[in-house]
Amino acid sequence: MKILYKHAEVAAVFWPVGKLKEGGTCEFSTEQCLEHCCEYYDPSQLKKDVFEYMITKPLLTVSSRIAQEMANMGVSQIHWFASGDCPKKHTTRIVKVIRRLSKLGKIQNGFTRNQRLWEKVNTFKKVRIALTVDTKVEKDKKQTVQHVREAMFKAVGELSEDQGPICVPDYKKGQISLYTSYSKETGRHVMSSCGSSFVSTGTVVKENVCRVCYEETIGCFA
Ligand code: SF4
Repeated sequence: MKILYKHAEVAAVFWPVGKLKEGGTCEFSTEQCLEHCCEYYDPSQLKKDVFEYMITKPLLTVSSRIAQEMANMGVSQIHWFASGDCPKKHTTRIVKVIRRLSKLGKIQNGFTRNQRLWEKVNTFKKVRIALTVDTKVEKDKKQTVQHVREAMFKAVGELSEDQGPICVPDYKKGQISLYTSYSKETGRHVMSSCGSSFVSTGTVVKENVCRVCYEETIGCFA
């Protein structure tokens, strides 16, 4: 069994989607996100086996296996939780795996709704894992930057330079999400969006390939 699969030109971790009581890993999911999740209807056994392996095997075995699979795939970047999320009880373990991979020089990005994990891992080198939060937008209204700022502030307060990016999905627009991170250079928030086919940060618009975002410091890496 392989534990990583290709996604946006990088290696990715796919864990089972859904509430814990349904056998999923999305402990922090919301009604909105489950309703719109394109992975929700794929309850594959493979994802369950990958999850089981990663939470039961010794930490060094898991991180060495990930590094080996990345080498076999010819990639140096890993995307966390292309499906599923890290439940609270596995936070410490996964933070340690991410830290070990960071020490091995691996580039890491991805999404989580596990705030504790987000707070820990974005202090590691080459790691940009976004915290996903939802806005409250009335049915007939469009999601605006103000909605995004309010949702972000409610979740984590004022974003500072040592915190990772925040991702705010726009469910009405489908897959498009809005990210914000803090720029050390300007002392201001950098807004980006990543959709089903493009990523944009400021005036830069590119095909949404996570590897390119790292190389050009856009998107999650802005
Ligand atoms: S912004 Fe870039 S790094 Fe982040 S998910 Fe989109 S393509 Fe990947």
